[in-house]
Amino acid sequence: MSSEQDFRIAVLGGGAAGFFAAIRCKEMHPHADVVLVEATGKLLSKVKVSGGGRCNVTTAAPDRQFLLQGYPRGSRQLKGLFHRFDNHDAMDWFESKGVELYTQEDGRVFPISDNSQTIVDLLIDQARECGVQIKSRTRVSALEQSGSSSWTLQTGSTPIIADKVIICIGGSPKRSGLEWLETLGHDIVDPVPSLFTFNMPGNPITELTGLSVPSAMVSLIGTKLHSSGPLLITHWGMSGPAILKMSALAARELADMEYTFEIRIRWCGDKPEEHLRSVITETMRSSGGKQMYSYTPFEIPKRLWSFLLGKCDFRSDHHWSDLGKKGINKLVDMLMNDTYNVQGKTTFKEEFVTCGGISLQSVNMKTMESKTAPGIYFAGEVLDIDGITGGYNFQAAWTTAYVAGELAS
Ligand SMILES: Cc1cc2nc3c(=O)[nH]c(=O)nc-3n(C[C@H](O)[C@H](O)[C@H](O)COP(=O)(O)OP(=O)(O)OC[C@H]3O[C@@H](n4cnc5c(N)ncnc54)[C@H](O)[C@@H]3O)c2cc1C
Repeated sequence: MSSEQDFRIAVLGGGAAGFFAAIRCKEMHPHADVVLVEATGKLLSKVKVSGGGRCNVTTAAPDRQFLLQGYPRGSRQLKGLFHRFDNHDAMDWFESKGVELYTQEDGRVFPISDNSQTIVDLLIDQARECGVQIKSRTRVSALEQSGSSSWTLQTGSTPIIADKVIICIGGSPKRSGLEWLETLGHDIVDPVPSLFTFNMPGNPITELTGLSVPSAMVSLIGTKLHSSGPLLITHWGMSGPAILKMSALAARELADMEYTFEIRIRWCGDKPEEHLRSVITETMRSSGGKQMYSYTPFEIPKRLWSFLLGKCDFRSDHHWSDLGKKGINKLVDMLMNDTYNVQGKTTFKEEFVTCGGISLQSVNMKTMESKTAPGIYFAGEVLDIDGITGGYNFQAAWTTAYVAGELAS
């Protein structure tokens, strides 16, 4: 670590990771000259629109094991990094800077203002207060080693010289956006989108738009992948946490299938078959005189229940006592193995991310320093790390930026 006044760290990218890294650099090394370089005229633009304008800053995941399950890519490498700065450290950091947070029932953490501007203002104020120099409308297009231990950043105007560089340029939808980093020896994992909803054009279930079930299980047919959680029916197909989680778990497989695939839904989540059978038998015994269409013992909205019974070809005046062995099997099969064709995806407006980016093989994941270009560090979504919805993506940005900022200075 240098203590000289002119030691210069350039942070590329004015998003969540860039700001957090720059602030950490200054905290660790107040005399360093830290410059944050942002390509556009807007700072923290994703933070601003995040979480539907409320900014889901992190997750309240109770322990590291639970937290790591939120990362289809990068969980192994994040394990060590979370020892240095995890979701609870992030919550403490925001609260120590005066931003009160609250946790929703589903574990998502938001500022109490319910306004992402609170987080934008905090990060900009913190960076300015500790002396980070912010240079916006400056796109870095290349990095060249100048001398044995410094880098020249090509910007289209005056180049910037820095001793260390932290790259926080976010996810790139196309591989070509990362080619200038590939030339420095970094492997690129082809980017594909993650966190999207499923299109089911023409499927009658879309007429039930707005209905949701609290706990469904979704499986991708032909794979072992499955996800659980609330499921929402939309006018174009299906959404909700169970679907978004599947889109993240299977981001690469679904891209390979060109977004045409089949899913299986278990409408009662992970409830085993025996449980469903015993609930059905008990209902036949205790409520045999009730019409099936007007009474369900399951946590399924009435209109969806009627839709599923219709798919089973049960008559509209079918009573529970009429069910019989064949009927029980049909109903159990419908509740456990209901299949749908998916044709296409729709971007989820509240949160989407890129799967892929700088390969974690090219980075020392203890320090975030490049293995091929000494003095270059990475943090945030530019890396091949991404999470499910619920604050996991910002958490990956805070954690990687904290470590990169600390160790680059
Ligand atoms: C609509 C939406 C809502 C979201 N909501 C949530 C949420 O509530 N919770 C959550 O956890 N995650 C959320 N996410 C994901 C989260 O926003 C990202 O994972 C996170 O912002 C990544 O931060 P980053 O700093 O790595 O990248 P970014 O936020 O993308 O920032 C990168 C910055 O680098 C700049 N840049 C790019 N190239 C260059 C260059 N060559 N030179 C200089 N600057 C450059 C870009 O202009 C950009 O400002 C959401 C994403 C979207 C799109």
